[in-house]
Amino acid sequence: MSSNLEQFASDNYSGICPEALEYTIRANQGSAPAYGNDAWTQKATDYFRELFEIDCEVFFVFNGTAANSLSLAALCQSYHSVICHEISHIETDECGAPEFASNGSKLLLAQGKNGKLTPETIEAIVTKRTDIHYPKPKVISITQATELGTLYSIEELVDIKKVAQKYNLKIHMDGARFANAVAAINKSPAEMTWKSGVDVLCFCGTKNGTALGEAIIFFNKALAEDFDYRCKQAGQLASKMRFISAPWLGLLETGAWIKNARHANQCAEYLENKLLNIEGVEILFPREANAVFVKLPEQVIQSLREKNWQFYTFIGVGGVRFMCSWNTTQLRIDELISDITAGVRSQK
Ligand SMILES: *Cc1c(COP(=O)(O)O)cnc(C)c1O
Repeated sequence: MSSNLEQFASDNYSGICPEALEYTIRANQGSAPAYGNDAWTQKATDYFRELFEIDCEVFFVFNGTAANSLSLAALCQSYHSVICHEISHIETDECGAPEFASNGSKLLLAQGKNGKLTPETIEAIVTKRTDIHYPKPKVISITQATELGTLYSIEELVDIKKVAQKYNLKIHMDGARFANAVAAINKSPAEMTWKSGVDVLCFCGTKNGTALGEAIIFFNKALAEDFDYRCKQAGQLASKMRFISAPWLGLLETGAWIKNARHANQCAEYLENKLLNIEGVEILFPREANAVFVKLPEQVIQSLREKNWQFYTFIGVGGVRFMCSWNTTQLRIDELISDITAGVRSQK
């Protein structure tokens, strides 16, 4: 068992951050009511209301696939459709769970630069067909930060909100890396969500530093009607809920959620700057959060794999993705850079 995996594969390879662990241990004293009727869950829920400056409905589920699928199902009838980017996680990495959970709501795929939807691409899909034979568009799903590590600016979000209003569409936000987006854009969580038209946010704890557990936050409370039953039916109601909500409270109350995200973003920035100094290395997308996508010669990729570096090459367009997390260190980045540099030199 490697305790020091040389990894830039994903922020879900990282362990539990100290704050989340500390609150887990605190929650482990004695007994507490099950199924979310405990004080930890109440406190975490209230903290989200404070953080987002709105009386929202909050639910905790085990993972991001469940959060996305169940929340989309809550926004759609089976004959509706969801507009999303062609490389969105809900399309490429959830094994059809959104369609399964919604009994068949179809995903309508849009293209767009840097992994982002635009008002134009959305409008083109909505107006392509308006007849009875086509599934009726009901939701726009956006990922913040995107699968390519880019960000929607507040202005871009507001422009999408305008299309949503024009065509009576709801907005779902996949916030697998929402904390990284907040840290990078430096606007309030409220501005980045409901003030920009987001109806429901799936806020990921796992990639931010918990062992598991995502918060589904309905800013539009009417959409959350009976959502607790949907979670239970889907096997997503944790009986020992406090072990999901307490670590979340740990992230929120101590500020670790934003500290971890800032750290990951800064690591990615540092890595990007180092990569830019290496001849022949090409950055594929603007590095805006905690991911760096680069084009590397196949031989160099091979040499890194031989040195046991872990990273993904299947996301989006097939470049190398280096993902930083709360526990990435500068030392590890320097080692990676040194191995990339050696790899590039040896192929000349
Ligand atoms: C990681 C991730 C998720 C959640 O994935 P799970 O493995 O189901 O927890 C959702 N969306 C995006 C963009 C992700 O990167």
